[in-house]
Amino acid sequence: MALVEKTGVCRFCGQMKIIKVKENDEDPDFLNRVATQECNCPQAQEERRHEMKREAAGQWIENMLEHNEGAQKLCKEAVEAVYTGATGKVTVKTGKYTYSFEKNSKNDIVAKRSFSDTQEESF
Ligand SMILES: [Zn+2]
Repeated sequence: MALVEKTGVCRFCGQMKIIKVKENDEDPDFLNRVATQECNCPQAQEERRHEMKREAAGQWIENMLEHNEGAQKLCKEAVEAVYTGATGKVTVKTGKYTYSFEKNSKNDIVAKRSFSDTQEESF
Protein backbone atom coordinates (compact mmCIF):
# COMPACT_ATOMS: atom_id res chain seq x y z
CA MET A 1 0.00 0.00 0.00
CA ALA A 2 1.31 3.45 -0.86
CA LEU A 3 2.27 5.81 1.90
CA VAL A 4 0.48 9.11 2.18
CA GLU A 5 1.30 12.27 4.07
CA LYS A 6 -0.73 13.02 7.17
CA THR A 7 -0.16 15.17 10.18
CA GLY A 8 0.45 14.11 13.74
CA VAL A 9 1.28 16.02 16.87
CA CYS A 10 4.29 15.30 19.10
CA ARG A 11 2.86 14.39 22.45
CA PHE A 12 5.69 16.16 24.29
CA CYS A 13 6.18 19.50 22.56
CA GLY A 14 2.89 19.74 20.64
CA GLN A 15 4.63 20.36 17.33
CA MET A 16 2.69 19.34 14.22
CA LYS A 17 4.58 17.13 11.86
CA ILE A 18 4.01 15.77 8.38
CA ILE A 19 4.42 12.03 8.56
CA LYS A 20 4.22 9.27 5.98
CA VAL A 21 1.77 6.54 6.91
CA LYS A 22 -0.50 4.07 5.19
CA GLU A 23 -3.65 5.50 3.73
CA ASN A 24 -5.86 3.61 6.18
CA ASP A 25 -3.88 4.74 9.24
CA GLU A 26 -6.39 7.14 10.69
CA ASP A 27 -6.26 6.58 14.41
CA PRO A 28 -5.14 9.93 15.89
CA ASP A 29 -3.25 8.15 18.70
CA PHE A 30 -1.24 6.23 16.14
CA LEU A 31 -0.53 9.34 14.05
CA ASN A 32 0.56 11.23 17.15
CA ARG A 33 2.79 8.35 18.19
CA VAL A 34 4.51 8.33 14.80
CA ALA A 35 4.95 12.12 14.97
CA THR A 36 6.41 11.78 18.47
CA GLN A 37 8.82 9.09 17.28
CA GLU A 38 10.06 11.38 14.56
CA CYS A 39 10.23 14.56 16.61
CA ASN A 40 13.59 15.90 17.71
CA CYS A 41 12.56 17.73 20.85
CA PRO A 42 14.54 16.67 23.95
CA GLN A 43 11.66 14.76 25.55
CA ALA A 44 10.95 12.78 22.38
CA GLN A 45 14.66 11.92 22.10
CA GLU A 46 14.71 10.87 25.73
CA GLU A 47 11.67 8.71 25.09
CA ARG A 48 13.47 6.98 22.21
CA ARG A 49 16.53 6.36 24.39
CA HIS A 50 14.19 4.99 27.01
CA GLU A 51 12.59 2.70 24.43
CA MET A 52 15.97 1.36 23.27
CA LYS A 53 17.12 0.72 26.81
CA ARG A 54 13.84 -0.96 27.68
CA GLU A 55 14.21 -3.27 24.69
CA ALA A 56 17.84 -4.07 25.45
CA ALA A 57 17.02 -4.79 29.08
CA GLY A 58 14.06 -6.91 28.00
CA GLN A 59 16.33 -8.94 25.74
CA TRP A 60 18.79 -9.51 28.57
CA ILE A 61 15.97 -10.61 30.87
CA GLU A 62 14.59 -13.02 28.28
CA ASN A 63 18.02 -14.58 27.78
CA MET A 64 18.69 -14.93 31.47
CA LEU A 65 15.26 -16.24 32.40
CA GLU A 66 14.57 -18.29 29.34
CA HIS A 67 12.06 -20.70 30.83
CA ASN A 68 10.45 -18.52 33.43
CA GLU A 69 7.89 -16.20 31.95
CA GLY A 70 6.53 -15.09 35.30
CA ALA A 71 9.93 -13.91 36.44
CA GLN A 72 10.56 -12.29 33.06
CA LYS A 73 7.43 -10.24 33.45
CA LEU A 74 8.34 -9.24 36.97
CA CYS A 75 11.85 -8.24 35.96
CA LYS A 76 10.58 -6.17 33.04
CA GLU A 77 8.23 -4.36 35.36
CA ALA A 78 11.16 -3.82 37.70
CA VAL A 79 13.18 -2.22 34.90
CA GLU A 80 10.28 0.09 34.13
CA ALA A 81 9.83 1.07 37.77
CA VAL A 82 13.54 1.77 38.14
CA TYR A 83 13.70 3.69 34.90
CA THR A 84 10.82 5.97 35.77
CA GLY A 85 12.19 6.48 39.26
CA ALA A 86 9.21 4.84 40.96
CA THR A 87 11.68 2.65 42.84
CA GLY A 88 15.42 2.96 43.42
CA LYS A 89 16.39 -0.65 43.19
CA VAL A 90 14.52 -3.88 42.69
CA THR A 91 15.78 -7.31 43.60
CA VAL A 92 14.12 -10.47 42.29
CA LYS A 93 15.09 -13.87 43.60
CA THR A 94 14.34 -17.02 41.75
CA GLY A 95 15.93 -20.30 42.70
CA LYS A 96 19.62 -19.75 43.38
CA TYR A 97 19.75 -16.60 41.26
CA THR A 98 19.26 -13.07 42.38
CA TYR A 99 18.56 -10.37 39.82
CA SER A 100 18.87 -6.74 40.70
CA PHE A 101 17.99 -3.66 38.71
CA GLU A 102 19.04 -0.11 39.46
CA LYS A 103 20.04 3.07 37.70
CA ASN A 104 23.56 4.43 37.61
CA SER A 105 24.55 8.10 37.53
CA LYS A 106 24.41 8.12 33.72
CA ASN A 107 20.75 7.11 33.86
CA ASP A 108 21.49 3.64 32.50
CA ILE A 109 19.77 0.59 33.84
CA VAL A 110 22.25 -1.71 35.54
CA ALA A 111 21.06 -5.32 35.60
CA LYS A 112 22.95 -7.88 37.63
CA ARG A 113 22.55 -11.57 38.11
CA SER A 114 24.27 -13.29 40.97
CA PHE A 115 24.34 -16.90 41.89
CA SER A 116 24.36 -18.16 45.41
CA ASP A 117 25.02 -21.76 46.24
CA THR A 118 24.93 -21.96 49.97
CA GLN A 119 24.76 -25.39 51.45
CA GLU A 120 22.83 -25.45 54.62
CA GLU A 121 21.79 -28.41 56.66
CA SER A 122 19.91 -28.67 59.92
CA PHE A 123 20.56 -31.67 62.18
ZN1 LIG B 1 8.45 16.91 20.21
